[in-house]
Amino acid sequence: MTKPLQTTHPPSTGLAAPPTGFVEKMPLERYVPPAKPSLVGFSRAQLSEALATVGVPAGQRKMRVQQLWHWLYVRGVRRFEEMTSVSKELRAALDRHFTLARPEVVAEQVSVDGTRKWLLRLPGEVLGERPHEVECVYIPEADRGTLCVSSQVGCTLTCSFCHTGTQRLVRNLTPGEIVGQIMVARDRLGDWLGATRASGDGLPTQGERFVSNVVMMGMGEPLYNFEAVRDALLTVADGDGIAISKRRITLSTSGVVPNIARAGAEIGCMLAVSLHAVRDELRNELVPLNRKYPIAQLLDACRNYPGVSNARRITFEYVMLRDVNDSLADAKALVKLLAGIPAKINLIPFNPWPGTRYECSDWDRIEKFSEIIFTAGYASPVRTPRGRDILAACGQLKSATEKLSARERLALRAMAMTD
Ligand code: SAH
Ligand code: SF4
Repeated sequence: MTKPLQTTHPPSTGLAAPPTGFVEKMPLERYVPPAKPSLVGFSRAQLSEALATVGVPAGQRKMRVQQLWHWLYVRGVRRFEEMTSVSKELRAALDRHFTLARPEVVAEQVSVDGTRKWLLRLPGEVLGERPHEVECVYIPEADRGTLCVSSQVGCTLTCSFCHTGTQRLVRNLTPGEIVGQIMVARDRLGDWLGATRASGDGLPTQGERFVSNVVMMGMGEPLYNFEAVRDALLTVADGDGIAISKRRITLSTSGVVPNIARAGAEIGCMLAVSLHAVRDELRNELVPLNRKYPIAQLLDACRNYPGVSNARRITFEYVMLRDVNDSLADAKALVKLLAGIPAKINLIPFNPWPGTRYECSDWDRIEKFSEIIFTAGYASPVRTPRGRDILAACGQLKSATEKLSARERLALRAMAMTD
């Protein structure tokens, strides 16, 4: 099945034409909010309800749900008429009540190294209200493709180094909008069964899937949108559908302690914790949520994270801020602090934004810091896939219209290194 490419305005120059800049955004006044609900992101139970709405008898619903599940999440169809195993009447009935719409792609950027960024438009909470925008970033490597997904528009937390924290606008994303990000990426990459696969520099060459890993490291605090994130990730992990295993899904939290155990029990995905400081005094400043849930409590929750083991380690993220948290004494304290916890450490080069008071640590310092961690037995925490080209920070994704900077790409890659 060949799927038409979703068009942007003006039409993008094509999936496999790196590098392109962001295409011009569609003017807001052209935005038309969806009139019917989309089935995208629906759980099996919700699909069953949808079938009841259109008059499918109870006895047939289970089988029909299986069919819809396959067309939605294995084939990624975008029109009911493509669901050839479903009767014409049922397709027409579904079409009258529902859509298969994904979040609208308003801009796409393909970087030279294959990184792709999509700006997505979501309806406002109230009809007629300004639509919201979130970003979703795809980071390909030879053996995997990682998608960085958002959980909220903006964030209620105010980490002092994070751009998202300065945005006032906050709305929780729905499960459909969270699953929808993965579906958009798979649409654009031709990553569905039977679809024409994208080609271009930097795409994974090993494995069957372009989107093999998901990190909840985009905008927002996933554990403050718990139910929607849980329901979305369970749909994404379902073996009969999108089937990205829970070991390949990582949820990053700034430390919402009461929901950490819940995430382990109810989602069972991998956990990443934004530590960023080894002392409460400094962490209170960088991650103000620390005042509520200080380091000791956070690390206790990590020790008790359901399923944690040497094979399923917790990733500790540590953003490198020049002269703030990057002393070699901090590195030693970090190693000590994490002793006994099955851990990985990701050092993230700080990705500066206009108006920030922080700077990224010197590369030399990052290397020395990383050496201490490496010597303590942790895998080399900063890789430099493109020389000094360090990764970009998902946490600060915003509606930027310029190209991804080298530092952004580096920050992204560092964050994506969760395996
Ligand atoms: N709210 C969650 C997940 C989104 S942020 C959390 O805080 O963990 C994902 C990661 O990006 C976090 O580790 C966050 O601390 C980091 N981050 C945010 N802004 C950054 C920046 N400007 N430079 C580098 N990393 C940043
Ligand atoms: Fe929110 Fe995470 Fe940014 Fe903190 S780092 S403001 S929790 S998105």
